[in-house]
This record gives sequence, C-alpha cells and structure tokens, in this order.
Amino acid sequence: MSENLNPFAIAQAQLDEAAAILQLDPDMHAFLREPMREFHFSIPVRMDDDSTKTFRGYRVQYNDARGPAKGGIRFHPDETIDTIRALAAWMTWKASVLDIPLGGGKGGIICNPRELSRGELERLSRGYMRAMARYVGGTQDVPAPDVNTNPQIMAWMLDEYELIVGHREPGVITGKPIELGGSQGRGPATALGGLITIRETAKLKGMDLKGMTCAIQGYGNVGSNAHQLAHDMFGLNVVAISDEFGGIYNVNGLDPAQTLPYSRRNGSLKGFPGSDVISNSDLLELDVDILIPAAIENQLTSANADRIKAKIIAELANGPTTPDADNILNAKGCYIIPDFLCNAGGVTVSYFEMVQNSYQFYWDEVLVQQRLDQKMTLAFHAVHNMAQAKNVDNRVAAYLVAVDRVAQAVRLRGWV
Ligand code: GLU
Repeated sequence: MSENLNPFAIAQAQLDEAAAILQLDPDMHAFLREPMREFHFSIPVRMDDDSTKTFRGYRVQYNDARGPAKGGIRFHPDETIDTIRALAAWMTWKASVLDIPLGGGKGGIICNPRELSRGELERLSRGYMRAMARYVGGTQDVPAPDVNTNPQIMAWMLDEYELIVGHREPGVITGKPIELGGSQGRGPATALGGLITIRETAKLKGMDLKGMTCAIQGYGNVGSNAHQLAHDMFGLNVVAISDEFGGIYNVNGLDPAQTLPYSRRNGSLKGFPGSDVISNSDLLELDVDILIPAAIENQLTSANADRIKAKIIAELANGPTTPDADNILNAKGCYIIPDFLCNAGGVTVSYFEMVQNSYQFYWDEVLVQQRLDQKMTLAFHAVHNMAQAKNVDNRVAAYLVAVDRVAQAVRLRGWV
C-alpha cells in the first residue's frame, strides 16, 4: 500500500502514538487532534495590468492554551489547508518543547511569489493582514516568516496592521527588519538552533565534527545560514547543497563565501563553477555523516529511506520525514534530530523579539545567541532524557515532552 503523504494525517498519527504512550485521556486526545480555530478567506489583489486576481488565504490557530498562537505564513503554489493544519500542530509542539509561553499557528496563501511583481506582492501581503487583522495581535496570534516570506513582507503586514488599529504595535508580527523592531540574530536563528542540536548530538556520541561530511537540501534563509554556520562553527565539510532548481556537489567541500553570493546574484545555485550537478533526490542519498533537510515536507519517505546513508539527520525543515521513513531510518540506527526540536531556533528568537517589543528595550546579538543556546540545549536534553527513560526514538520523545505540557495547560484551564 502506498504511504499516506497528507501532512495533517501524518501529524495526527504522530500525536496518536504519543497519546498511547502517555495514556492520555481520550477526551483530551480528541481535543488535541484538531485545530481550535481556522480562517479561510479570499484576498482580491489589483494586479499591475489593472485586472483583479483573487488569492486564497488561510490561518490556523491550532492551540493557544499555553499562550498566543505563533507561527509563520507561507506563500506557496501547492499550499493546502491540511499542510497548514499540520504545520500549525507542529508549531504547538515546537513552542511547548522549547518551553516558551506560546501556542501554535500557521498561515499561508496559495500563490507563486516568483510570478508577482514587487507591487503585487506588497498588495497581496497587505490583503492578508487586512483579512486577519481582527484575529491577530500580541495577545492572540503572532505571525512570522516561513517558506517564501521574509522581513520585507513582515514589514508590509506590520504597517497594514498599524494603519488599521491606529497605533504602533510591533509585537503583532516577528521576523521584522531590525529598523522596525526586529531582533538581532533572528535571521540565522533557525539554522543556529539546529547547529546547536548537532553540537549536542556530537557531544553525546563523542564525535569530532571537524571535517565530517554534510549535505544540505534547501538554500533559503534556513539552508543557506546552516551552510555558513556549519562551516564557521564546526568546520564541517559541506559537500552538497541544493535549491528548488537542483543541487551542486564537490567532494572537497563547497565554500559558503563563494556559493552564497553566487546564489544571491543568480537566483539559484545552478552552474556554480567547479561543482558537479546533483538532483535533490540524489543529494539525500549521499554517503555523508550529516544530512540536513532544510526545504519542505515529505522528502524522506518509504520510497527512499532504505537508501539514506547519513548517520545523523538534522531536520531543519518542517515535516521532512514520513512515519514509514522514520521506522526504516530508526531501524538502521540513524540518529534523527526531529523537526520541531531541531528547527525551533526561529520561533525561540521570535519569542525574544516579542519580549523586546513589549518592554521596548533591545538586546545585542551576543545576548540573543546566548539565550537561544541555553533554550535549545535544555530542550535537546529534555528530549534525549525522555528518549532514554521511555526507550523511544527522539521524535516520539519530543512529542511526549511537548504534548504533556500542552495537555496540562488545557486541563488547568478546565477546557477538557
Ligand atoms: N516559520 C518558523 C517555524 O516554522 C518560525 C515561526 C515563528 O517564528 O513564529 O518555526
């Protein structure tokens, strides 16, 4: 039977496994299986040729028992409500496993931002915020960047919100430009958090990371920063990187000082001098020590898991590994740092951004990094200790830690 690749079905199946081990009350389990609130709306946008195109937008506030919903907004042509539901559920578990006082949410627009002019993109971003303005805010739901969105888009959304409410309220959205109340260190935060979990894994295993080989799938904000930091922090030998157009490979390593400006200049890594072409799927199967999926969901599935050779998989993407692939990889002894732990650095610094916005006093980058390190290290060991104590893999352990905390908050509120 072919595998079910619906991300929300996957997120629910993962929760079901944790609920059974936690012996979660069935009423609580049923409550946590579904999003608390969803918004589906149309965004009419005046296009440059004076026609009007209607886009579909979504926001899912999955659970806000521990604090306001938190999570990014994706712009993607293949966006579906079930993908956003899954991503919103994973945000809930992510904020909980990091023990930050936030719930989980996610939003998206079905669109291809590459086909939009800058003006169209701005009107679309403002339209999204107009539709959601009544339902977001520092005490309700706080959006942020995700796939194909960036600080400029956050700035337009912030401005639209503030025009509507009539006052400054930077904490309504995170991942903003520094000039508008963004946090130092937010850009590389997701990648840095992931590398901290790789560092802790290496400590546990007594490994020296210097010179170890690494492949990175995805070269957006997360993948490109991971390349830079893997090189700078640990001297990892990154032999392959890729973007949505394909990948490049060099057995002697790829220098971020060369590839980053090249990719920025050309809009892709294609044709980078002194490298071989490699497809996104072949990159995943390379014989490397560390594999970093940093693109989108469903990359490691039952179709390729038995050919994956990496010993450590650091999931900087959300949902890159399906449950069937999980079983195959765990049976092979592969050490997986699960997504909502590995990639939690972004939302953690988003939380720091909210804190700085609310007390109007800003931290320097060193302080942000120290506090991020502290949070990531603590969460990593909470998950590792749970995995040891219950004899389960890291993903299940992360669920046990996260779901238990959310369930306690729901119970204390008397909802279930
Ligand atoms: N989009 C990022 C994530 O998936 C960050 C979310 C945020 O900062 O709220 O974790």
